[in-house]
Amino acid sequence: MSVTALSPDLVLTNATVLTADAGDSQAEAVAVWGGTIGAVGSARDIEALADGRTKKIDLKGRCVLPGLTDPHVHFADGGASMMHRIDCRDFYSNVRSIAQICEKIGEQARAQASGTWVVAHGSPMQDFRMPDGRFPNRHDLDAVAPDHPTVINFGAHITIANSRALEAAGINSMSSAPAGGAIEFDDDGAPTGKLVERAQYMVRNIMPTYSYEQMKAGVMFAAERCLARGITNIHDIVTNHESIRAYQELVAEERLPIRVSLLIRVIEAQIKKESLLNLGIKTGFGNDWLRIGGVKMSIDGGITGHVAKFYEPYVDDPCHEGLIRIEQDELDETVEAYHRAGHRVCIHAIGDVAMDMALHSLEKAITADPRADHRHRVEHLGNWLVNDERMDVIVRNGILPVPNIPFMHYIWDSLLACIGDERLEGSFNVRDMLDAGLQITSGSDGPAYWPLDSLRDLGTAVSRRTWTGKTVGADQAVSVREAIRMFTINAAYNAFEEKIKGSIETGKLADFAVLAENPYEVAPENIKDIPVDMTVVNGKVAFMRDGADGLDA
Ligand SMILES: [Zn+2]
Repeated sequence: MSVTALSPDLVLTNATVLTADAGDSQAEAVAVWGGTIGAVGSARDIEALADGRTKKIDLKGRCVLPGLTDPHVHFADGGASMMHRIDCRDFYSNVRSIAQICEKIGEQARAQASGTWVVAHGSPMQDFRMPDGRFPNRHDLDAVAPDHPTVINFGAHITIANSRALEAAGINSMSSAPAGGAIEFDDDGAPTGKLVERAQYMVRNIMPTYSYEQMKAGVMFAAERCLARGITNIHDIVTNHESIRAYQELVAEERLPIRVSLLIRVIEAQIKKESLLNLGIKTGFGNDWLRIGGVKMSIDGGITGHVAKFYEPYVDDPCHEGLIRIEQDELDETVEAYHRAGHRVCIHAIGDVAMDMALHSLEKAITADPRADHRHRVEHLGNWLVNDERMDVIVRNGILPVPNIPFMHYIWDSLLACIGDERLEGSFNVRDMLDAGLQITSGSDGPAYWPLDSLRDLGTAVSRRTWTGKTVGADQAVSVREAIRMFTINAAYNAFEEKIKGSIETGKLADFAVLAENPYEVAPENIKDIPVDMTVVNGKVAFMRDGADGLDA
């Protein structure tokens, strides 16, 4: 705002503005100076502020929310993967069988010089949704790409490699997996091609990686899709310097379309564990576009591939209980070091063994060096198995569980098959956690798993509907009001940014999602399908939906 500009730069009017302020008040219009909200109120009062230089947008009764946040994504990497990997994901493409996966891979191999890498990706737990009832193996891939080292990952925890890729990685019947990983062998003792968790690095370390230019393009590609769903903030889990450089350059070029909080992985990453500690950089470093939101580490694997670590074996695989990627000692030490250095720590824990390890480490560090407002997170906690005892530890230490509503939406049936209904009793217990006073939000793990779509997740928190139309745990449903808060002000709190984001109030950043319909006025199961007509970031229209009638910005 220039000193002479007494009139607002932008006015959005004739809307239902759901402010998500402390009283969840509603307004009709909002005025913006530069990138900041300057006034919120009735259409009449706000329009009176405007003059000839003000850009005025008549929203014709549409609904305005604060820009939405997805607080757990793998964005720069995921965006680059979406641009460069062969897409065999059933949630995105119409690939529905191993034969179709192989067809796509074979086609790509024929187009590439032999000896070059063919890299594809599928969706998590796709084995459950294909008639084959399994993942492809090395032989399937060899049949279509015998002369190319070829890999396909199904989510973050499993990679299938063909014979050429195994050979290049030096994996054979004599190989043993690194601690925290596993190589699968067939009955004859030969590798099947399936590599889980840290064993994936045996091939990843020799595969081509993305340059920072490719990461930049990946961020832009994925961000465009976010804006189309009203998402203006993400918390990206980054594992390499290329992605951090990509973000920095996009900020410097004033091209970063959304605001990013970086969760920097410090174990199983290209970034050395000591790097941030040595620099003395703390959580919060950065600006309104790009900020360090904390550090991340992963104790166990995922349900896909049966590598999340449980006390009891998997229902469909009674010989396995999962695996641990970080032992308790190393976890305690790392958590304490980062806690003492003023960082927020985010720990991935999917199985109950891993949950207890995470809670133990956090409580130990917090008790040894009490710090108010640490906002330490446990990723995926809240998906299941939050019993009274664990809830006590969470509440008394002020830990923030970050559940994943899309897991319920997309893979509920395969979760049931893997861990059984007993362990899924009271799962995705958002209702209980909100009632316990926790500021709960939900992360998607997209965009490589499934699209980022906070409105889908907001609607699912209310409707408890899966994508196949089942209703799950209706007693854990939340109200529309609570669901809106989850993806706005609660998520801002989660990033230490509740003073500048997350609600439509004077002085906050002018980031808005303009919805074609009011979530209070549509059936809960239809909230996820509400079109986003316009997205505003930093006071500028960053997205406008084609065919959004009568919007001429
Ligand atoms: Zn994740």
